[in-house]
Amino acid sequence: MPPAILVWPITRIVLTHAHYYHIGSLDALLALLPAAEFLVTARDARFLSGDMSLDLDEPQTKLNGSYIKISSRPTRFITNGDQIGSFKVISSPRHTPGHIALFDLRDNSLIAGDAFQTRAGLAVSGNMRLLFPFPAMATWNRSLALESARKLCHLSPSRLAAGHGNVLESPVAAIETAIANAEQAFQKIKSYGT
Ligand SMILES: [Zn+2]
Repeated sequence: MPPAILVWPITRIVLTHAHYYHIGSLDALLALLPAAEFLVTARDARFLSGDMSLDLDEPQTKLNGSYIKISSRPTRFITNGDQIGSFKVISSPRHTPGHIALFDLRDNSLIAGDAFQTRAGLAVSGNMRLLFPFPAMATWNRSLALESARKLCHLSPSRLAAGHGNVLESPVAAIETAIANAEQAFQKIKSYGT
């Protein structure tokens, strides 16, 4: 007898950040799911509406990565500390100005967006992995990236799900190593701090 398949309706779509690769067919999906919530930070929602400006109190570092304008409008803005079902929203700006991670309070799993990548080896994603350099190339601000990586490490996640790469179990030691590697690498880069 085949295993039972549970089918759950999609009631909510949450973006970790506004990069093209993490949006997929959002407009088409929401057209099929008119009752679904669409959640994103107010900061990254501006990029989705076509406003690519930086705020005066933000590092005036050039934005990297691909952004597209979409027609869907968020049903709600999320911010640090919000709870969405079992997930707590953790602000982790760096890769984009309004990037967030999601921490599952049931089992301490961390959905890290692009705060880390696990493809081609675990890395703080501003730290270039030659076999998969795209998250690093898309990172907006390396110094903030490190701050966010440390903040997420302090959560002691039981499991790490990054936007690019496989899920990693018991990742804390590997995250600490990735942070140390990024600290060394960023210090060598002339534009460290940008
Ligand atoms: Zn990204």
